[in-house]
Amino acid sequence: MREFGYERAHDVSGAVALLGADPDARYLGGGTNLVDLMKAGVETPGRLVDVRDLPLDRIETADDGGLRVGATVTNSDLAAHPEVRRRYPALTQAVLAGASGQLRNMATVGGNLLQRTRCGYFTDTAHACNKRVPGSGCSAVAGEHRNHAILGATEHCVAVHPSDMGVALAAFDAVVSYETADGPGALALGDFYRPVGDTPHLETALPSGALITGVTLPPAPVAARSRYRKVRERASYAFAIGSVAAALDVRDGAVHEVRLAFGAVASRPWRAHAAERALTGAPATAEAFAAAADAELAAARTLPQNGYKVTLMRNLVVATLTELAEEAAR
Ligand code: SF4
Repeated sequence: MREFGYERAHDVSGAVALLGADPDARYLGGGTNLVDLMKAGVETPGRLVDVRDLPLDRIETADDGGLRVGATVTNSDLAAHPEVRRRYPALTQAVLAGASGQLRNMATVGGNLLQRTRCGYFTDTAHACNKRVPGSGCSAVAGEHRNHAILGATEHCVAVHPSDMGVALAAFDAVVSYETADGPGALALGDFYRPVGDTPHLETALPSGALITGVTLPPAPVAARSRYRKVRERASYAFAIGSVAAALDVRDGAVHEVRLAFGAVASRPWRAHAAERALTGAPATAEAFAAAADAELAAARTLPQNGYKVTLMRNLVVATLTELAEEAAR
């Protein structure tokens, strides 16, 4: 591992100043992804600015009734918070579906959003990877890609974002707050991740040196009846091969409001807007749920090994929404 410096920041402006003074520096949260990548030689920062002492570890009710979650709140604390469990249950379920208890105790909300893909060619420096070395090529397209993207990818990169938490945040219209040397800013989660295009190494729209300070969940009554379902290749401690965060409000047998987001199908948590449009006002039936999934998945572009994901996601959507509809009818 390359030698690196270490600083512990004690306030937000100090952290931003430390990073601004050193273009080779990176923020360190729980370190559950960054440190692994440093060991593998994928990330080589000259200095780490530890942000775990910053006063960003609270979950509070926002003025509009939503929830404001600090960036250094651990995944465990987020999942266990009574207001998250009661008002956004799919978020609790998503967080608990990710990683292990030990990792969730360390990993932070801000770090979860910024974690990198688990594409094996990205983490193995012996292979060409446009995300790690821009312009070097993509080994996955002609190589192993059974868990790679079916939506929003380009020939320059077909990696998926690994977050479970982010999928629920996408469904609930979360907004990411950040701080820069020029002041605070915010990005809706839908704008937070950049399209892949021909620059897969540029992953977010955060300004250079920005420190994520928190995530705000707007009030969303529909979220109280929500679910996260994850398919993975073993029962625990595995990344998704497909996942769905869904919330459903059924009135008189018809869909009054629906939220739907997909995980492990794109370079970012994928909000299924086409499916939501197709379902709103439709009967709350398995046939309508399947038609809505098809509306979203019509844009899927598959590779030789990952075509199964289209069927997988369709089935996940139908199963998850059917479960929610049956609950509503009880
Ligand atoms: Fe790299 Fe993306 Fe290709 Fe994986 S899919 S090898 S991360 S460019």
